[in-house]
Amino acid sequence: MSLGAMQDWSMRVAHVIDHAAREAPDREIVTHWADGSETRTDWAGIHRDARKMAQALQALGLKKGDKVASLAMNHARHLVSWFGVAGMGGVLHTCNPRLFEDQLEYIVNHAEDRVMIYDAAFQPIIDKMRDKWPGVEHYICFDPPEEFDGVGFEDWIGEQDGDFEWLAVDERDPCMICYTSGTTGHPKGVQYEHRSTMLHAIAGLQPAAFNFSASSVMLPVVPMFHAASWGLPYAGAMAGIKFVFSAVNDPAVLDDLMKREGVTDSAGVPTVWLAHFHYADAKGIELPKLRAATIGGSAAPRFMIERLMKNGTRVQHAWGMTETSPIGTVGGPTADWDDLTFEQQVDKTMKQGRPIFGVELRTVDLDDPTKVLPRDGTSSGALHIRGPWVLKRYFKTDEDAIDAEGWFNTGDVAILHPDGTMQITDRTKDVIKSGGEWISSVELENAAVGHPAVAEAAAIGMYHPKWDERPVLFVVRKEGAECSAEEVVNFLSDKVAKWWLPDAVEFVDDIPHTATGKISKKDLRDRFGDYKLADA
Ligand code: AMP
Repeated sequence: MSLGAMQDWSMRVAHVIDHAAREAPDREIVTHWADGSETRTDWAGIHRDARKMAQALQALGLKKGDKVASLAMNHARHLVSWFGVAGMGGVLHTCNPRLFEDQLEYIVNHAEDRVMIYDAAFQPIIDKMRDKWPGVEHYICFDPPEEFDGVGFEDWIGEQDGDFEWLAVDERDPCMICYTSGTTGHPKGVQYEHRSTMLHAIAGLQPAAFNFSASSVMLPVVPMFHAASWGLPYAGAMAGIKFVFSAVNDPAVLDDLMKREGVTDSAGVPTVWLAHFHYADAKGIELPKLRAATIGGSAAPRFMIERLMKNGTRVQHAWGMTETSPIGTVGGPTADWDDLTFEQQVDKTMKQGRPIFGVELRTVDLDDPTKVLPRDGTSSGALHIRGPWVLKRYFKTDEDAIDAEGWFNTGDVAILHPDGTMQITDRTKDVIKSGGEWISSVELENAAVGHPAVAEAAAIGMYHPKWDERPVLFVVRKEGAECSAEEVVNFLSDKVAKWWLPDAVEFVDDIPHTATGKISKKDLRDRFGDYKLADA
């Protein structure tokens, strides 16, 4: 018996799927599979299969706290495992298949995963890694090919009757673990708990974030293995939305699904939208008429925001990180929206939005972290965050990753504006320090990709004897497009301060990326380790 006049209702992920199955049992969950086939289920089906899966895991001997790994794209069976694993008290470890082999080896062993459930498309990875994962006792394939001598997911759960009562876990028990994809050192594990997951999902539902309701049809392009897919599966279940999943990230497939399935909302990193633009342009077709597009993971460039907005789509520029579950801020129209010009609306959307209720932000001086900076729209400093879905301690470490007041240092550099908007200007490690002043590499890159011939751009600071560092811009030209270094600098000259203009523009065939598709400045710096500026 607890004190108080209100009921005990522990924050458990199981409540989420129970609710979806009860209130939106026949709302569809569509999957386009890697082999081109399509299947349909609904929240009642996900609920039934999740209970069968929980039983099947127990039958394998799994206990509360045990880890189950997935190596999979977005589809209904992956969704089932989000709820099935949590429902039997387990912890789902969503692995990023794009990680390097030694990272995959490390994270599965470090997490002590006992079961690995994977997509047939990743069979080559499984075959290569099996011997390196001694702790993995069972391998199950989500979508086995016809000739298959292993265990297929549907057959495996098909042996159970689904008569299962969710385990009564504690709110503070873990339900998921995601590893960061840092380019230095080993990836670090971030454990999400039932409570943090629920609070994050409830916050994600609100109009200021994903704006979910029973009328939403969401096609998440952000992978289920990246930062809990921004919490969309949980928030979507809470609102009983229709989900459309694609196990392939082909813009032709996504475009067709969006138009055919009445998709209203989507979410993904900027490169996803870029690929969609290229596809639509090459085909001479219109972009899907989405209600809202959430862009996050990297800064959304201006031309992308403009084009989506002109197409009638509300752009929600979001910022977050694996360590923050991941949502920290989300952008969207404010009360004065209709009084703003289109240009002003785009200017606002270029910033990363406002913190959703639950998290707090502050910035501190880059050289003196004891100095908290004013929210004046100009001071830029190290971004700190705290809140109930922000990391306290990395998995299997003894020390807290936060300071005495609970602040987690994000490693990002940002400006806080008086209207509450946050603007990312860089990563702490990537800011360019020229003559004692900071140059934002992100702003340079964003401006450069607005040039019609530029496909991608990355700015890094190179040693300069007088200024310490000066920016060099590495540019990948669009296929068949021509432009000179001078043209790029001219193009930038009315978009950034004069002293920010790059000292050199170098054209390259490609720019290295991390496993989550972000530009890897570290790899770029390594690649150009011997680079010298003309006057250096
Ligand atoms: P990850 O943990 O892989 O999701 O990476 C988190 C990092 O991505 C953040 O610390 C930022 O550096 C970057 N990031 C995420 N969203 C944005 C955004 N909207 N604009 C700029 N950078 C972003």
